[in-house]
Amino acid sequence: MAATAGTHPDTHSGHRHPTADVALRDAVALRLQGAGQRSTPARDALVEVLAAAGRPVTIPEILAAGAGLAQSSVYRNLVVLEQAGVVHRIVTNAEFARFELTEDLTGDHHHHLICSECGGVDDVPAAPAIEQALHLAVSEIERATGFSTTAHRIDLVGRCRTCR
Ligand SMILES: [Zn+2]
Ligand SMILES: [Zn+2]
Repeated sequence: MAATAGTHPDTHSGHRHPTADVALRDAVALRLQGAGQRSTPARDALVEVLAAAGRPVTIPEILAAGAGLAQSSVYRNLVVLEQAGVVHRIVTNAEFARFELTEDLTGDHHHHLICSECGGVDDVPAAPAIEQALHLAVSEIERATGFSTTAHRIDLVGRCRTCR
């Protein structure tokens, strides 16, 4: 199970120290290398947009963030970054999927609230009490199934405050 870093009341973790960005860029470069790919200015820019957003964003939101990224290159590079384990794609029933940096890369374990009305996706920090309860439940499932768990992802699906 990933370490619980998300105990801050602020659900938007997009405020990073510059040195953290360098560490992130190095970690991304390493993963790309492992996937037989390499860092490019466009891929670095994409990772920067995702890190700055601090929440799952759509392709139109990525394009609106500027950084001079072309739509075709965003599509192509998101696929590469996803295959390299840098980016996690969140599929909702909205028109656009959303993208975030993988949490084993950021160390920021969190769960998602997915609104089935507007397609909005929000992060919720993984509170220690919730993680402890989950750990117990996971242990029971592992005992019953012989499955060995390394991580969990929780997406709560429903209606956001605006759509209720
Ligand atoms: Zn909504
Ligand atoms: Zn969790």
